[in-house]
Amino acid sequence: MLASLPLPHPLMFNKILIANRGEIALRVIRTCREMGIKTVAVYSTADKESLHVRFADEAVCIGPPPSRQSYLNIPTLIAAAEITNADAIHPGYGFLSENAEFSRICQENGIKFIGASPDMINRMGDKASAKATMIAAGVPVVPGSDGLLQSVEQGKKVAAKIKYPVILKATAGGGGRGMRIINAEDEFQHAWDSARTEAAAAFGNDGMYLEKYVEEPRHIEIQICGDQYGHVCHLSERDCSIQRRHQKLVEEAPSPFMTDDLRERMGAAAIAGAAAIGYEGVGTIEFLVDKNRDFYFMEMNTRIQVEHPVTEEIINYDLIKEQIKVAAGIPISGRNYLPTGHAMECRINAEDPRAGFRPAPGRITTLHIPGGHGVRVDTHVYAGYQIPPNYDSMIAKLITVAQTREECIVKMKRALSEFVVEGVKTTIPFHLALMDSEDFKAGNFTTKFLESFDFSVV
Ligand code: ADP
Repeated sequence: MLASLPLPHPLMFNKILIANRGEIALRVIRTCREMGIKTVAVYSTADKESLHVRFADEAVCIGPPPSRQSYLNIPTLIAAAEITNADAIHPGYGFLSENAEFSRICQENGIKFIGASPDMINRMGDKASAKATMIAAGVPVVPGSDGLLQSVEQGKKVAAKIKYPVILKATAGGGGRGMRIINAEDEFQHAWDSARTEAAAAFGNDGMYLEKYVEEPRHIEIQICGDQYGHVCHLSERDCSIQRRHQKLVEEAPSPFMTDDLRERMGAAAIAGAAAIGYEGVGTIEFLVDKNRDFYFMEMNTRIQVEHPVTEEIINYDLIKEQIKVAAGIPISGRNYLPTGHAMECRINAEDPRAGFRPAPGRITTLHIPGGHGVRVDTHVYAGYQIPPNYDSMIAKLITVAQTREECIVKMKRALSEFVVEGVKTTIPFHLALMDSEDFKAGNFTTKFLESFDFSVV
């Protein structure tokens, strides 16, 4: 066991159970240790040898590899918190982090859920109702259907009004699933059937809504933080436009497309949206920004995000610590945070970028993690680690920080070239090629960028 460090704040939790796995579980454990809070890791049998299990003060096995029987199993998680006397649960991202029922059951069992209340999750986790809440708060949204669509006919009518192309989206969607772009009316029925089938299988909810498809947009999101006393601040933006099939691969802060005026307008809109629901905790308001720098609310994430480190690096702020403090009832300073320097994150996934990013689980035989000035790696893997096939394929996040975007890219290239992962294929060769792309270096890209990227250079 490692030694505990400082004395806790009087309001602070004594022990936090982390209802997650992988790098984010380890990320939370690290901050808890710095805050003098004890930790409980939970793990499926597939994750017995994972680092989060080794670094926590205690660890509880919660079931077999399938997520439904382990990381998504609410009664088992609550039982694990009860046996270990944990007074709070940190849900990380994914899994139960935006599950209103889990948040409610934690509350009912006297365990603080370090995340949004059931009511906030219900209002924001469901994309169609989140849009309605934002409209009421005066935040611009993409034109589209008024709530959920009841039929294909109704969808076609809305599409004719807002004009093609349109995008059909699952209200429970996430990770780019349950979404279809429709260019003309004769594609509607097929898109409707396939998106609903996909959403029903992935989320158990086939509710659909329709939006105008914003052409060549950037995905820019605002990090916000609210406390229990009604203060909300923003912590600047992240640009997440480098996506493949609507899934983020590279994120950076600040956005190369940002201006002081746009940041002020987007920050104010994000704060208005969060304040309208009395938002408590850290959260992200995602926007699409078009070429005229008009922006539209897309969705709110009521949890910590994968890409949070780029924000931490440009504002020198530990977001997990802030999340824990806010949950414990400690007020935030209330001021907004503007970026100093530039940070970028590359998602290192066990996928083969030369074969359509096919997942490539397996055993990591050799591992060398880059280091040096301005380089941060958040990962749960080590040499000899067996990547289980049951979960997502992200094995590490490589983050670089420098004074300027140009230096940040140079540093990223240097760090990527030092990163050695043997035994499995990874996205490292793709990131190296991206860092050489003239358009990327010039900050000249939209969410469509990778559709025309020349993967033969990878
Ligand atoms: P998910 O929750 O599945 O990530 P989002 O609503 O965040 O879904 O959308 C993911 C991505 O899909 C966005 O970053 C953007 O690239 C694209 N997208 C979503 N809505 C639109 C839209 N109305 N117009 C253009 N692109 C969109």
